[in-house]
Amino acid sequence: MTTTVIPPATLATNEARVAQLLDREWLSLVGNRRVPAASRRTFAVTSPYSQERIADVPDADAGDMNDAVDAALAAAPGWARTPAGERAAFVLRLADAIEERGQDFAALDSIDGGAPIGVMMLDVKIALESLRYFAGLALELKGYTVPASSNLHFTELQPYGVVGKIVPFNHPFMFAASKIGAPLVAGNTVVLKPAEATPLSALLLGDLIQEIFPPGVVNIVVGDGPTAPHALVVHPKVRRIGFTGSGAVGLAIQRAAAEVAVKHITLELGGKNALIAYPDADPAEVAAAAIRGMNFTWSGQSCGSTSRLLVHDSIADDVLAEVRALLADREYRSPLDPAAVQGTMVNRRQFDRAIGYIDDAVQRGAQVVTGGGRPESVETGLFVAPTFLDGVGSNWAVSREEIFGPVVSVLRWTDEEEAIRIVNDVDYGLTASIFTNDIRRAHRVARSIEAGFVWINGAGPHFQGVPYGGWKNSGVGREESIEELLSYAQSKSVNVML
Ligand code: NAD
Repeated sequence: MTTTVIPPATLATNEARVAQLLDREWLSLVGNRRVPAASRRTFAVTSPYSQERIADVPDADAGDMNDAVDAALAAAPGWARTPAGERAAFVLRLADAIEERGQDFAALDSIDGGAPIGVMMLDVKIALESLRYFAGLALELKGYTVPASSNLHFTELQPYGVVGKIVPFNHPFMFAASKIGAPLVAGNTVVLKPAEATPLSALLLGDLIQEIFPPGVVNIVVGDGPTAPHALVVHPKVRRIGFTGSGAVGLAIQRAAAEVAVKHITLELGGKNALIAYPDADPAEVAAAAIRGMNFTWSGQSCGSTSRLLVHDSIADDVLAEVRALLADREYRSPLDPAAVQGTMVNRRQFDRAIGYIDDAVQRGAQVVTGGGRPESVETGLFVAPTFLDGVGSNWAVSREEIFGPVVSVLRWTDEEEAIRIVNDVDYGLTASIFTNDIRRAHRVARSIEAGFVWINGAGPHFQGVPYGGWKNSGVGREESIEELLSYAQSKSVNVML
């Protein structure tokens, strides 16, 4: 793949570009039209860095969402009839168009989400690679023959019709763009619901979609709160829903959908992921991985973040000394500064949530290794310093619940069996990371961990084509792989009586 994204320029040019981008009317995309909410209501989008209102976007309600579903339903038969290779060509054109405007999407994500522009450029790159990957898989939408009798028996894969895609606030552009690739290539039309905290890059994506796709093939609707996405979930004609977000909302979606119809729902939910380090691991390597795996750059606001560090007691002090050294000179800059390495929390609610977990743990006796709250040097921005907490209990809230902030619980261990019990003793099962140089142990432990995605001697990266998804309350279904594409098609068996 030859994906190139131009690196971000300077803080001043990024700020000037953002000012230009924000100077527009933000509208949903329904059919081929940019539309306000029928009520004309809007809601404010706020920058977590400046904490100023930066845009007003449509506050869609159930009626607006139903209009989008109608547009997608009208477009569905034509799109399903379009040969898979031609559908893939549309998706490739979208990827090319995104590549040309990569900086704009990254800049909008930075300004409404608070993550550094450099890392948001990487998100754009991942989105492009994902769209190109699924386009390349178009001809894998194939059935097979079964020699069940002297007649002809074959299966074929057909689209569901309209797919509802609901995405979370973190990695806003990456999810908005990459998660429409598989359903579109599989022949479905899409209604996309971006998160209310970070809707801008998805709305800008609407400009490219409007130019490239036939009307109604992709629709983008924003609204504050659950009203609009709930209407999508309970629409009787939307039979396939792909959701990325929190466990609580995932469960609510399953419940609400089940009241209406039998639906195919895939859920990519949260995690409380463990990094387990053995005595033979290199403390410096473990420390670097614990920081990288926790995704402090975007303030720990990633589902796969390794928020529990289960480190063997014999190396724990060395690992934490390295962690302290690596985080000592952390700088807090504008997310539009190309040199920024640390993002903010997405909004005041998430900021208060992270601080609340830290304060609670400290009151219960946790020792602050790094961070511990808002950095003192910071004048603006909802920053929480990368925080490692030692001396926490494995049964404390900070060690069991997904905080979705830059907070790592350090859990020292000496007995392997007990360590693995702790790893598996949470409701989540998304990722895990194992650090050891003993190959047998690494594989044995990987097999015993209840999680859908495991790194051995690594933490953080995803790989195009390698299935990603959770066990237990971390989700159902696999994405970023051929499984994702095939999950957007349903099998039909045809029996030809010869
Ligand atoms: P969230 O669940 O609050 O919201 C996600 C989306 O659901 C938003 O678009 C929101 O508007 C919509 N929504 C809210 N209520 C709804 C309802 N009743 N019915 C239908 N839709 C509804 O999540 P968030 O705070 O935006 O994102 C953080 C969560 O997402 C974390 O738990 C994180 O772990 C998870 N996440 C998971 C993955 C993964 O791949 N497993 C990736 C990223 C984020």
